[in-house]
Amino acid sequence: MHCGKRLGPLELIPVLSWLFLRGRCRGCGGRISARYPVVELLNGALWYLCVRAVGLTAFLVPALALVTALLVASFIDIDTQEIPNGVTIFILIVAVLWNVYAAFEGYGVLLQNVVGFFTASGILLVLAIISRGGVGGGDIKLMAACGLLLGWKNMLLTLAAASILGVLVMVPVFLIKRLRRGTPIPFGPFLAAGMVISMLYGEAIVGAYLRIFLP
Ligand SMILES: [Zn+2]
Repeated sequence: MHCGKRLGPLELIPVLSWLFLRGRCRGCGGRISARYPVVELLNGALWYLCVRAVGLTAFLVPALALVTALLVASFIDIDTQEIPNGVTIFILIVAVLWNVYAAFEGYGVLLQNVVGFFTASGILLVLAIISRGGVGGGDIKLMAACGLLLGWKNMLLTLAAASILGVLVMVPVFLIKRLRRGTPIPFGPFLAAGMVISMLYGEAIVGAYLRIFLP
């Protein structure tokens, strides 16, 4: 970031390169933010959880791509209050490719995913209209692209999980920082977390929830 030095292959090794360089640029000695290794570690942890939950199936490929894209989108959203279109378009391309692949096995998944494109994005769009811009357009587009990959059931669970996480995290933040009503909250990271939870553990969560009512 400081001197524009082009990084060599060794300097691009995740986490380790940062540790060996002690967080400083080899060209100019400028500090390199700890955020880089933290995001790299987080990505590694998410990929591990994906392999555990999804297993070595074809869906692992789009799952890994999605969690990484959501991680990137979350950090950018926290910084800029905006989800870049590039990330959403990347997810959209992954989703389209996955649906082409899945269509060979039958149209059931494809139908659920096409409905998924409109599920959470539609609900957020209605909320955006009612609240006159209280929901960001970036969130709506992200939900559409992700819905096409995960299907409508996951998107409903995503909204529920994101809302619960949002309340659990933001209520204490509002109380501690004494924020006012109307302070903008980046909702993207909560939606992203909701999606990862629902993609990896959705069936287990819904199963446990239904068993409460249907023993
Ligand atoms: Zn430098």
